Amino acid sequence: MRASQIFIPTLKETPAEAELVSHQLLLRGGFIRRLASGLYTWMPLGLRVLRKVERVVREEMDRSGAQELLMPVVQPAELWQESGRWEQYGPELLRLRDRHDREFCLGPTHEEVISDLARREIHSYRQLPVNFYQIQTKFRDEIRPRFGLMRGREFIMKDAYSFHMDHSSLEITYQAMYEAYQRVFTRLGLSFRAVEADNGAIGGKRSHEFHVLADSGEDAIVSCHHCDYAANMEKAASRPDLAETEIPLAAERVRTPGIRTVAEQAEHLGIPTAKIVKTVLVVADGKTVMLLLRGDDELNLVKAGHALNAQDVQMARPEEAISATGAPLGFIGPKEPLLSIPILADHRALGVANFSTGANAADLHWINLNWDRDLPRPAAADLRNVRAGDACPHCAEGTLSIRRGIEVGHVFQLGERYSESMGITVLDETGRDATVTMGCYGIGVSRVVAAAVEQHFDDRGIIWPVALAPFEVGIVAINARKSPDVAAAAQALHDRLEAEGYSVLLDDRDERPGVQFATMDLVGLPHRIVVSDTVLAQGVWEYRARRTTENVLLDETQLMERLR
Ligand code: ATP
Ligand code: MG
Ligand code: MG
Ligand code: MG
Repeated sequence: MRASQIFIPTLKETPAEAELVSHQLLLRGGFIRRLASGLYTWMPLGLRVLRKVERVVREEMDRSGAQELLMPVVQPAELWQESGRWEQYGPELLRLRDRHDREFCLGPTHEEVISDLARREIHSYRQLPVNFYQIQTKFRDEIRPRFGLMRGREFIMKDAYSFHMDHSSLEITYQAMYEAYQRVFTRLGLSFRAVEADNGAIGGKRSHEFHVLADSGEDAIVSCHHCDYAANMEKAASRPDLAETEIPLAAERVRTPGIRTVAEQAEHLGIPTAKIVKTVLVVADGKTVMLLLRGDDELNLVKAGHALNAQDVQMARPEEAISATGAPLGFIGPKEPLLSIPILADHRALGVANFSTGANAADLHWINLNWDRDLPRPAAADLRNVRAGDACPHCAEGTLSIRRGIEVGHVFQLGERYSESMGITVLDETGRDATVTMGCYGIGVSRVVAAAVEQHFDDRGIIWPVALAPFEVGIVAINARKSPDVAAAAQALHDRLEAEGYSVLLDDRDERPGVQFATMDLVGLPHRIVVSDTVLAQGVWEYRARRTTENVLLDETQLMERLR
């Protein structure tokens, strides 16, 4: 490809709106352009990178036995009402009406659609297990879209959904997906870590996130020096043994086994749950049930019993939310990014909830602490974040360290969350109806592009891993418009390399060499070859790897070896 034939609108200045390196460089290199908040156009160069990610993802999904399909972006409200998420999902769900006044949403994820498909099409245990995937546009009306592709409103996800007769079958596919994800991120040249994650509001059983390691990451991840324990901060901090202050009645506190969701917790406590939108926390003072709906660092406060739609949501700081219950407050720890809040009502501690003010604050989780008798006075357990140097909860020897990560993938065991609410049953071997069990598996395909840049750049621009590079080789033809020898040699080299299977960008523009070099560095092609009258006179090629600042003169054989 000639540079004169592909539109690469590079920018000299760093756009003011871009905070993150990846956002800056993707704009400056002409990979993406902003349309509106959280909405980006993939320019020709950027699209080539996106397609490369898609290709690797597709190959590994196919290899794992998953089958590709493509579902609609627009989804009927009825399906979401059946699953209960029309109410639960909250304002991230973009809702719309058609000309007949029927309600729809733009899909932020596809559990409902795939579940509808499965209940119509899958009738027998003989058709299971099965794993369907798609690579497709999602829409989430994020409260704070930012960092370009990193947190868009419209973005591209690979999402897969598997169906099984039983848990052991789900476990096998979950493991296969976990391994496929490891192959994907390894092939893409990314340094990553899989960590345990909480299933949060979705419920279910096991869950892991895949994080690209980068200081700019929105998430904190915890790992052990000694063993293979690794978890995201929310998961790691949700352990009752992290209670910093021993509460007076610690000896009598009762862990309620098996309670995971707020709804379950509320039910257990006999608190009337209203329709729960995006449930993160139930605060009860004996009379009122308050639901806090998570936003990025604001919490939406809703009184139960109201029609829970966006208009009814008042914004509130967490402190206000808690004090609004009228319950005595023991502790709020604003120094830490993670706040721990004891939920007290009528001098009775109902439990402790923690949440992070970080952008990746996963949904609030109940800590499974309950006190089954009245407290003499308000008391609090301060569940704190994990700190570097804490003992590992899994092995005796290790200590924990904390790093930053970008969530690029997530695997979930959904269990019967959707198959029960939407009625996905099949006939089992004995001819009886059985409810299927499900898993779901996502990769942020467009976020991967930004995450890769966060890991691979220098002060001159992007340094693409070969697997992601829009072109593997850049040829800079110096003075090609004036030197027919240079023009011919550069074109011949371009053709030879393409015939060898390399993708090649030939910079044949009528620009000063300095401008040509700066463009090559900015757009980050792994290999650069300079063709000039000088090097031609010596019968060599001038080669430079993007990672270095060193030019080497190579004959054709040596050059081919370098590229390999
Ligand atoms: P986050 O915690 O960053 O909001 P999530 O946990 O809500 O992500 P999932 O529902 O697990 O996201 O979706 C699967 C993958 O989709 C994520 O691991 C992430 O890589 C990607 N993703 C989610 N939201 C966005 C977004 N707004 N922009 C780009 N990619 C996203
Ligand atoms: Mg999210
Ligand atoms: Mg997340
Ligand atoms: Mg996730």
